[in-house]
Formats: sequence, structure tokens, C-alpha cells
Amino acid sequence: SGPRINDYQVLEEIGRGSFGSVRKVVHLPSNKVLVRKEIQYGHMNSKERQQLITECAILSQLKHENIVEFYEWDSDKNVLYFYMEYCSNGDLSQMISNFKKERKYIPEKLVWRIMVQILTALYRCHYGTDLVPLESIYDKVRPPVKGSNAVIHRDLKPGNIFLSTEKVPDPSTASQTLDYNKAFVKLGDFGLAKSLGSSVEFATTYVGTPYYMSPEVLMDQPYSPLSDIWSLGCVVYEMCTLRPPFQAKTYSDLQRRIRAGSFERIPEYYSKELQQVIDSCINPDLQSRASSYSLLQNIQLRIARKSLQ
Ligand code: ADP
Ligand code: MG
Repeated sequence: SGPRINDYQVLEEIGRGSFGSVRKVVHLPSNKVLVRKEIQYGHMNSKERQQLITECAILSQLKHENIVEFYEWDSDKNVLYFYMEYCSNGDLSQMISNFKKERKYIPEKLVWRIMVQILTALYRCHYGTDLVPLESIYDKVRPPVKGSNAVIHRDLKPGNIFLSTEKVPDPSTASQTLDYNKAFVKLGDFGLAKSLGSSVEFATTYVGTPYYMSPEVLMDQPYSPLSDIWSLGCVVYEMCTLRPPFQAKTYSDLQRRIRAGSFERIPEYYSKELQQVIDSCINPDLQSRASSYSLLQNIQLRIARKSLQ
């Protein structure tokens, strides 16, 4: 094991993912609470390991206020450790189930607020350009730069969308105390799915039911940034309806529904603009699906801005 491992005091497990456990740790030199995610990679060949390391290098450069910060990685014989920002205020799947329990709609303002933050994170990754500050997003969305490497999330779902307060995360803050209207979105698990296998097989074996997976990926075509946009549409839909747009009892039935691409409307409670944004994301036709750029530019977001303030 590398020397850095000794810089951390390992605390309790906070969750279990597909590849190993997730623990709270203290970075002793700075006394900061972080999260350590472990990935068992003993079974991987050297090419796969190399790809994982390459991904790590990319992720450690992916700094954005709406992306979970990736600090460093370290490896043991069979385990890779990722050290990242600790998001103490839960995730979007918890927020959705809280609203569901209380039988309340998520206010439209909040839906837009969260969507815009996810979009700025996606824009940063899809186009490789610097971040667009949330405050100025409606005035000047920089046009994408051609030729830069796109990072694709590949596993956008409510459980990977963390919520944080603006301040330095306080481990004693329970998720119920978070004022959602002040929540900051932090997108996690960026790009990792690539190295860990991103096929349909991956989705069904490890991730569970692929509710948010785009039709092209289900048909084993390559991921594109637009596959993330499909998933974003599904997430925004779920914020409005409190269930995903495509559900089914069997995997093949789900696949059929996703490929057909038809889903029920969101409740009347929400604006037409919101339904239109969802429709432009959950579009089986790749050619006409919206991009993070076009969405951010979209006039509908300008309209939403007025209701956001
Ligand atoms: P998956 O995304 O497949 O559910 P993960 O390995 O990403 O599994 O996460 C396992 C658990 O740890 C989840 O409950 C997740 O919410 C939590 N978790 C992961 N990363 C963080 C983080 N940076 N901050 C707080 N909780 C996290
Ligand atoms: Mg995750």
C-alpha cells in the first residue's frame, strides 16, 4: 500500500455500492471528513486496470462546483481507493421519497434549480470547457469548444445526484434538516462506469434495474453525451411525478417501453415549459434529442429564471 493510505483514519461504512463499500474517512493532515470508495479490482486484467487509472486521472481534473470533488486515489493489492468529497445531505432519491411520503409535489422552482445545476455539471463534462457559473448561466452560455474530450457520466440517476449545503459539509447535519431550496447539487460517480464496464450487462448485473438507460445504450450502441441527456430527462420526470417514466415488471418489458419512448405526462401542476424540456430529453431519436448546450441556451430556461428568483 502507498504511503498516502496512512494519512487517513477510516471511520464507519456509509453505504455499499456495486464494487465495494463506501466509508467515511478523516484526512488527518487537514482534519477533513471525506468519503473513501473502494473498488475491488483483483479480477481485472492489466489493460482494464490501466483504463481505470486513466479514468482516475481524468476525474481528478474534473473540478466543478456541481461535481463531487475527487481528491486522490490509492491502491492496495486488490483494491483501489478513491477519496472524494463527502456529501452529507443525502441524495435526490431520498429527496424524492421524502416528498412521496408527504404526498407533496416538488415545487417547480426547485425542479428547475436542480435541473440547471445538473446541466451545468454535464455541460462542463460533455464539452470539456470551464464551468459556467450558476448565476450567469442564463446570460452567457459559452458555445462548446470542438475537439475537446467529452466525459460522459453513464450512470446518471437520483442516487448519484447528491445534495449539499453551500458550506463545508458538516457530518452532524442530518439530511432531514437540509433546506432543499438552498441545496447545491453535486453530481457523483462521473465517468467511472466506463472503466467498470458500461454495457447492458453491466447495467443489469451491477446497477439494478436500468430505469434511466437510453434506448441506444440498451441496444448496445456506444454511449454519447446525449445518453446522459436521456437520463437527465428521466430524472427530471421523476422529480415531477415521483416515479420514473418507464417502469415494468420484467426487464424485457422495460426495454420495450424505453425503446418505444412513450410515457405519461407530468402532473398538470407543472408548466408546459417543463414538460417540453422533458420531452426534448426523453427523445429516442438521437438526432433530435437536446444537448446540454441547447438546453442551457433554451428560452424556456430564461422563462424559468423569472420563476426561480
Ligand atoms: P451506487 O451508486 O451504485 O448506489 P455507490 O458505491 O456509488 O453505489 O454508493 C454507495 C452508497 O454510498 C450510496 O448510498 C451513496 O449514496 C453513498 N455515497 C457514495 N458516494 C458518496 C459521497 N461522496 N458522499 C456521501 N455519500 C456517498
Ligand atoms: Mg453511486
